[in-house]
Amino acid sequence: MPINTRTKILATLGPASNSKEKIEELIDAGIDGFRLNFSHGTQEEHKKTYELIRKVSKAKGTNTAVVADLQGPKLRIGKFKDGKVLLQRGQTFLFDMKDELGDENRVTLPHKEIFEALKVGDTLLVNDGNIILKVIECHKESALTEVVVGGFVSGHKGVNLPNSSLKISPLTEKDLKDLDFALKLGVDCVCLSFVQRASDIAEARKIIGKKAWIISKLEKPQVLDELDEIIMASDMVMVARGDLGVECPIVAVPLLQKRIEAKCRQYSKPVIVATQMLESMISLPIPTRAEVSDVANAVYDGSDVVMLSAETAAGAYPVETVKTMRGVIETVETDPKYFEYVNRFVEDVNCNNEARAITHAASEVAKTMCKVSAITTFSVSGATTLSMAQERPQLAIIAITPSKEIACRLNLVWGVRTYVDKNVFESFDNIEQVSSGFARISGLAKDGDYVIVTAGYPFGNVGLTNVLHIVKV
Ligand code: PEP
Repeated sequence: MPINTRTKILATLGPASNSKEKIEELIDAGIDGFRLNFSHGTQEEHKKTYELIRKVSKAKGTNTAVVADLQGPKLRIGKFKDGKVLLQRGQTFLFDMKDELGDENRVTLPHKEIFEALKVGDTLLVNDGNIILKVIECHKESALTEVVVGGFVSGHKGVNLPNSSLKISPLTEKDLKDLDFALKLGVDCVCLSFVQRASDIAEARKIIGKKAWIISKLEKPQVLDELDEIIMASDMVMVARGDLGVECPIVAVPLLQKRIEAKCRQYSKPVIVATQMLESMISLPIPTRAEVSDVANAVYDGSDVVMLSAETAAGAYPVETVKTMRGVIETVETDPKYFEYVNRFVEDVNCNNEARAITHAASEVAKTMCKVSAITTFSVSGATTLSMAQERPQLAIIAITPSKEIACRLNLVWGVRTYVDKNVFESFDNIEQVSSGFARISGLAKDGDYVIVTAGYPFGNVGLTNVLHIVKV
């Protein structure tokens, strides 16, 4: 049964869901893609899960996307002699590079780049921002801090530096190994964690090339300095609200989410809203009203994807959570005001861009002609389909592409249903028949209906969209 919603769901797999049965149930419940989180689990475990996804997806005839999320430069303190210490408000506490177990006066912070970047007055956050320290003295290999908000700290806790831009590659040694592994497996997309600059993406692009889409996880305030460049350099973007809420004042997360979403729409880059969307369903079968509203608002904003993390990876109700999310999406998307909300902040199209002119016109035709059932996009690289989705048209977008890989990537794009057809791209003559055929297969069109066709011809020229055609089914 095809699921006819526009907003896509990406679910993280983990011990609660990485069996064949659960993957089947999750796809049936409406999952469009799965995330393998390389911050947890071994490469062997991810390989097993990857193979299961591909097997189940093949059997079900879906183009389910697989996303590898690299851990990135997550900074951590060393261990303590007694396991943990209690830091008191007002006391001083030293971070240094000594290879010794810590105590209530000091702990190892084995990252030289941090000491190079810190300035007096900077804030240092430990343990998801629960412990707050202010830097009072900086040295080459240490920093003395004063505890502003204290509490217990145990070893290996994460450290965040909201005010500092670190000269570190977004790809650690572990990431490079995991990236090589994930690309060899054949994942569709790779998430880069803690992106700080557009050059971070360029560095990853040298390795990834066109083998996968790059999803930049925006979780540091520094990204605002280069937001346009970062989004343009990425294939897709994730509003990673978990770390964003630690690195930035937590109250700023909603406005950053909206700002990033609007920019992604402007640049035709799909956007994922992530973290704590249905958090209480980790342990309960029913979410809170606030969580339901959070998912609904992301859908009303026209987000491409809403993501589940621990809810599906480690929760007690992974399938119920997906069904709940799907229910929220269906309810919002059938609101007669849905498209008014989705398109409320979009400025007039006046960009002197051929592709945009064609896809905008297609969207207008969909509104003005009767009996039009779908828009088809013939897309080798995915660019025509992305440009069409940017319009957020009122009709479903049928993406016809010659490669399974592109189909899986496009499966994470708003409103797109994906089909693979290698032969059609050999000649322009088949596009009427093929468009009608897929519109019928998808259940969208019947005899006598019309389908709007968009394409770039000659096929295969990335970004070239120059065909707008109306076909009678
Ligand atoms: C986040 O921080 O919101 C996020 C999605 O990243 P991770 O799940 O890897 O912590």
